[in-house]
Amino acid sequence: MSTHNPFLAVDRQIIGDIHTTTEVMDNLTYLCDECGSRFPGTPGERQAVEFMQEKMRAYGLQNVHAEPFAFGGWTRGTATLEILEPVQKSLPCISLPYSPAGSVEAQLVDMGEGHPDDFAARAGEIAGQIVLTTSENPAGMSRGVHRSEKYGRSLLAGAAGFLFVNHYPGTGPVTGGIGHEDGPGAVPGLGLACEDGRYLQRLLERHGQVKIRITTTDVNAPSTSWNVVGDLPGTTHPDELVMVGCHYDGHDISQGAGDPASGAVAVLEAARVLAKYTKPARTIRFVLWGVEEIGLIGSAAYTQAHAAELGAIRFYLNLDAAGTSADIQDIVLNEWPELTPVFEGWKKEMADTFAIGQSVHSFSDHFPFFVQGVPTSCMERATRRPSGGRGYGHTYYDTLDKVEIGPLRVASERAARWLIRLANEENWPITQRTPEAAQALLDTPAYRETAELRAQVDAFYAARK
Ligand SMILES: [Zn+2]
Repeated sequence: MSTHNPFLAVDRQIIGDIHTTTEVMDNLTYLCDECGSRFPGTPGERQAVEFMQEKMRAYGLQNVHAEPFAFGGWTRGTATLEILEPVQKSLPCISLPYSPAGSVEAQLVDMGEGHPDDFAARAGEIAGQIVLTTSENPAGMSRGVHRSEKYGRSLLAGAAGFLFVNHYPGTGPVTGGIGHEDGPGAVPGLGLACEDGRYLQRLLERHGQVKIRITTTDVNAPSTSWNVVGDLPGTTHPDELVMVGCHYDGHDISQGAGDPASGAVAVLEAARVLAKYTKPARTIRFVLWGVEEIGLIGSAAYTQAHAAELGAIRFYLNLDAAGTSADIQDIVLNEWPELTPVFEGWKKEMADTFAIGQSVHSFSDHFPFFVQGVPTSCMERATRRPSGGRGYGHTYYDTLDKVEIGPLRVASERAARWLIRLANEENWPITQRTPEAAQALLDTPAYRETAELRAQVDAFYAARK
């Protein structure tokens, strides 16, 4: 049974338009096949920034511009991994972003899945050696243990190098940043394919000792990137903002087609249809963030540059990777229970099927807003996945051929229909939190554990200066 839908006419225009053009896939094709990874510092990044501004202007957005911000840049160099004993052999590998350049010769220490308890129990084995750990979440851990935590625990135990092994077979080496505050990490870090990591583990198991040499040649030098911004001005409350965003930078080893570009083109597609068919009461601001993958740097820079204006944001919707597949297109509200009934009502009137979740994580561009107290949300899976995992994400294989137009269209139309409602709702039940209240929401035992580790890692880096 459907309920009265005050936006029925515009919903039909939006959905009909999105489903009778290939614009969203055309934009994805351009970003992936013409611009490449769009990794910070590449020519394709600059090309994408120009393209996204041109599209926003062509769609009729106002105030379209690219906002520059400075950050610690990183450019990949060649990396090698040589087994010296008990066999002589080279394995394919890649540097992890923000790896420093260097060469380390040491024994391999296999930390498996990198359980925090194992790091505590075996710290004595790690000093001066090269840690190997996989991307798998440690068995028995109810919280996620991120790559940065495994790298941090390795540093605190005195590791001289770090090998990060993809736990998914057949998808090449895994990547992911190991920097500290947008500067280089303390010791070289390499990403390995599952198959090569398993070989190293077996070699160590059989021989007791494996000596390796890892060499990295990456360049760490200050750089500039851009957030791309465009507005659909509000008619009656132009100073109040509803924001939607997604980062556009992928990891440099891939096209970043699913993560993030499938979400970036959904932001553009929503902009196109909303500008064409609606005049929202409040301003809708569309933002495409730079430099997310190596540290949420673009969105954090925005919240600093626009600190005075954050109070005017009614709601922020994050679309990171949202067009990748149909099973990740729910609304997850970042601990705003008063908004569950609002979205329940919209779901009925939209005759749509998304689930509504309440939780928060720190791994995308909503988070710098969340910690300031802005009401935030993500289009993502509302139910927890059994073992986490990114599929093709963060590997060579996150390419255009994996993305289908169906999920791109659903991400676009769902976002657009939520945004009309978000911008026009007169009975809005929430106001912003204080930053202290946002912190209090994060204050769980799991969060305290990782916050404590971060403090120790900060102290480690401070002591090196
Ligand atoms: Zn992403």
